[in-house]
Amino acid sequence: MDKIGFIGLGNMGRPLADRLIKNYQLYAFDLDKNNLQYFTNKGAVACSSPSEVASHVNHIFLCLPTSKIVEAVVNGDNGLTVSAKRGAYIIDMTTGEPEITRKISNSLEEKEINFIDAPVSGGPKGAHQGNIAVMVGGTESQFAEIKPIMDDISSNIFYAGKIGSGHSIKAGNNLLNLICRMATFEVISLLVKDGVDPKKAVEIIQKSSGRNYATEITLPDNILSGKMMQGFSTGLMKKDAGVATKIANLNQVEIPLGKLAQELLESTIDQFGDEADMSNVALTYEKLTGAKIRP
Ligand code: NAD
Repeated sequence: MDKIGFIGLGNMGRPLADRLIKNYQLYAFDLDKNNLQYFTNKGAVACSSPSEVASHVNHIFLCLPTSKIVEAVVNGDNGLTVSAKRGAYIIDMTTGEPEITRKISNSLEEKEINFIDAPVSGGPKGAHQGNIAVMVGGTESQFAEIKPIMDDISSNIFYAGKIGSGHSIKAGNNLLNLICRMATFEVISLLVKDGVDPKKAVEIIQKSSGRNYATEITLPDNILSGKMMQGFSTGLMKKDAGVATKIANLNQVEIPLGKLAQELLESTIDQFGDEADMSNVALTYEKLTGAKIRP
């Protein structure tokens, strides 16, 4: 069995690594002992640092909260570069910042270590089902090298362009997701106030021109079901929208809808904190409008 490294085994990393462990011997590291143990119970080798992971394998996947953490895991004390071999691949599935990604990639060029971005979209459910979108930034030859491994993760692997392009597209996608989500909660709250059944409204809009991810997945699966759990935190959404804002500032582009959606997200964070699940946005709208969307 070929060997693969995986660091960051949380809500998102777990279903991604779960697909790899079927075909590879996994060398895993996470600061959270429970998340690590989930994989050692399945036969993974637990490592005590990123450097130990890199000493065993040539391909290392990362799915960490932020690019700053990625930087520390790659270049910090006991980081991957302490023992990564020439020609090794570090594949960063974190939703990260294109600028930091390009900086890390440049810092590794002399050591001949490949660093590429490969963020994902489709949530833990898409990862579990093997159809999550993966957008890869790097050279075409780097993409060709890692594509066979990526195919074990998903049937939707895309080449996004030069290094950082995956992270740029992902940030844009998540800002769009946030804007659509807020717009959908606004409209469904309005319809509830007008006496409409929210389930009917979502079912019909999902087959009409207003359909989007919130009418397809967020509302039916997480809110209308009463589950109130998506597996994606308000803090991570804030970070993602913040990356898109940084890109906008860098390019001097106005994003008024994006700004407003982030202000609305901030009220959910004020109420429930930044570790709360994104489903709590429904409760913010409930407070704002008095319309109850959840059962
Ligand atoms: P999470 O908080 O559930 O998991 C992060 C994991 O990283 C945890 O197990 C944590 O212990 C570990 N970790 C943190 N710092 C570490 C370090 N220095 N060394 C080793 N392990 C460390 O977060 P998540 O939801 O899995 O998100 C991870 C990334 O995936 C984020 O960039 C997020 O934006 C992105 N993402 C998440 C989703 C989602 O639906 N959850 C969807 C798409 C993309």
